[in-house]
Amino acid sequence: MTSAVSPVARLPEEWETSLRARGERAFTAKQVFHWIHRRGVLEPASMTNLSGRLREALATEGLGTVATVERIHRAADGTRKLLVRLRDGATIETVLLPAVTGPGARGPLADADADEDDEDDDERGDDAAAETAGKIRVTQCISTQVGCAMGCVFCASGIAGLKRHLGADEIVAQVLLGRALLDEGEALRNVVYMGMGEPLHNYEATARSLRLLTHREGISLSSRRVTVSTSGLIPEIARLGADFGGQIGLAISLHAADDEARGALMPINRKYPLPRLLEALHAYPLPRRRRITIEYTLVSGKNDDPDEARKLVKLLRGLPVKVNLIPMNPIEASPLGPPDWARVEAFQRVLIDAGYSCFIRRQRGDDVSAACGQLVLLGAKPKVKGFRAAPSS
Ligand code: SAH
Ligand code: SF4
Repeated sequence: MTSAVSPVARLPEEWETSLRARGERAFTAKQVFHWIHRRGVLEPASMTNLSGRLREALATEGLGTVATVERIHRAADGTRKLLVRLRDGATIETVLLPAVTGPGARGPLADADADEDDEDDDERGDDAAAETAGKIRVTQCISTQVGCAMGCVFCASGIAGLKRHLGADEIVAQVLLGRALLDEGEALRNVVYMGMGEPLHNYEATARSLRLLTHREGISLSSRRVTVSTSGLIPEIARLGADFGGQIGLAISLHAADDEARGALMPINRKYPLPRLLEALHAYPLPRRRRITIEYTLVSGKNDDPDEARKLVKLLRGLPVKVNLIPMNPIEASPLGPPDWARVEAFQRVLIDAGYSCFIRRQRGDDVSAACGQLVLLGAKPKVKGFRAAPSS
């Protein structure tokens, strides 16, 4: 099978080309794609409707060994952190976050997106929504790189630096492995690119993984339930908008409302300062009724002043957004930490009073250090275990 694209990353039409080249009939392409992406079977020996010859050929391509789950840590709140080992021995993490229900539950990532989504489902006859009806909806947070080159000062991945990019097969494999580990009664509903790494720094693999995850013949996630989070790589934001017609959810790690404060937290701001970033966000071809998620990690003494919130109000004016405030989770590699709770609420109050949807993202799965977005690898363990923001009821 002579395809430069590794098997798990291959789209149905690419399977067709590679299988035809070795004399297989066209429909086998769909069969193989279904095995991998619909059924999550990566072991060619189990692909029972394929010929023995084809199964052997697939095995030699290393289909079954893209990634394996090495450890699962389960937190009291149902959050599960999967430590995934890749073929070259590198490890990454992915997190399964079941939706929180009950009074005062204001979820971490996807719950904050749910407000506008659900009423749309019936209207649009959303397949994925029908499949997840009555089930506990799970959001999976996935990684796109081992480490990260962006160097944000509050982030374990940034401090560790970039080790390597992930391939599209390794990005998708996290979802296949995660989905296979769902509990009874759970259904995968959202995928967020908020694990380790900067997805838009690894654009090709990220874009291919988005095509695979949303492919109707495969996992078939609704593109609006897939969110790419970025520190603000302007050319790639434009590219993502153009390549996917704005259908993919966009989250921006803003973390400050002026260039000085942002530059001190995020080196990327020196290359792509705020005015240009805002221009790129206004130009993103966002569908009607959808909003860009603004992530704002609150770091004590750096970006948590109510004045900064007022600047944020001005900066975001005219942009359809919802704001997620994330009290910084302390990490060993940095002396920085979260503001006290009153300050977090004061910051939120300014935004709410100005008419913005603004949620405080609760920490999830603290007891297994499973908080999304600061997946603790590479020796950067959280300094304070169990820091838990009070629910923002
Ligand atoms: N590189 C992308 C996606 C991964 S990080 C990005 O930066 O958007 C996902 C989110 O977790 C980002 O908003 C990031 O700023 C946040 N994050 C990283 N480290 C954190 C920490 N220690 N505490 C709180 N949020 C953190
Ligand atoms: Fe990279 Fe995102 Fe961490 Fe910044 S916050 S270092 S962009 S992973």
